[in-house]
Amino acid sequence: MVKVNFYRKVSSFLALVCGFVCSLCHALPNGEYMPLEMVAKEHLLRMPINRPDRVVLRGDNIELSFRSGSLAFHANGVLVPFGFFTETKCGKLCVSYSDYVAHLRPFFTMQHRSSVKKAVIVLDPGHGGRAEGALSATGLKEKTVTLDICQRLARILERQGHIVYLTRNSDTYVELEDRTKFANQKSPALFLSVHCNAAKSKSARGIETFALTPHGQPSQHQVKSLQSDLKPCVGNKFDAENLILAYAIQGAVLKKIGCVDRGVKHACFHVFRGLNCPGALAELEFLSHPIEAKKLASSNHRQDLAQGLADGITSFLKCHIPS
Ligand SMILES: [Zn+2]
Repeated sequence: MVKVNFYRKVSSFLALVCGFVCSLCHALPNGEYMPLEMVAKEHLLRMPINRPDRVVLRGDNIELSFRSGSLAFHANGVLVPFGFFTETKCGKLCVSYSDYVAHLRPFFTMQHRSSVKKAVIVLDPGHGGRAEGALSATGLKEKTVTLDICQRLARILERQGHIVYLTRNSDTYVELEDRTKFANQKSPALFLSVHCNAAKSKSARGIETFALTPHGQPSQHQVKSLQSDLKPCVGNKFDAENLILAYAIQGAVLKKIGCVDRGVKHACFHVFRGLNCPGALAELEFLSHPIEAKKLASSNHRQDLAQGLADGITSFLKCHIPS
């Protein structure tokens, strides 16, 4: 467990080791950067690499890898974003305190359960009805692929004993607010929205998984940040769980199908904001990429994607994050 006065301890430790000439020590009381060495000490992690430009932290089930001047790090090989650049200060690789809270601490506060209980899960096949979503060059519609993958995923999860609800089970249009409302009515253990990606560039490929932007952090999604995005919302109650769910989904799908890792990302998607449970949105490959679109048309590949998502959900359900 992270101690309540951890931040104060970091400040006083730095004041001791750097002396009062160091600008970092003066900056810290206002909440700036902290060295990864302190994270290692606090969470009893090993540091097989500890250089000013590169650090690796290792625990029993986790390896985190950092580089100086980066807006991301790797958690067990999965790309996870930072809101602010890492920096080398006083010869030590540091992260912003905001990123420590939003992106590192959740990995250390997880506790593993030995068995997965029967869980209620809400799946949200993206688009539907008049909202067709992305379209491949051969005419494959995103709304068709997302529904098929969610129905396959539901069958896998039900076989495992879970209770699964879909926000739509046919080619119908459902408003975003109604998807969130439906999920909240079921009080689920988690909500997963499933989409396929598309881009103007035909070379864009791979998968990415979104979680709601943690309070006080910037979004990675291209849509303009709205002023309302900066205000905390109901979904921010689950900032730590949202990150771990997105990370678990991204890691498991990558492991299953071995495609390009575009990383975990943050966005204030409407469907997340009012959600009263942990939530994530998976963007499973690009319908605009000729090879990926061809794969998405194959039922074997959709089954693999569904299995990857199920593995991610199972892995998330084995984690318990103390509130
Ligand atoms: Zn979509």
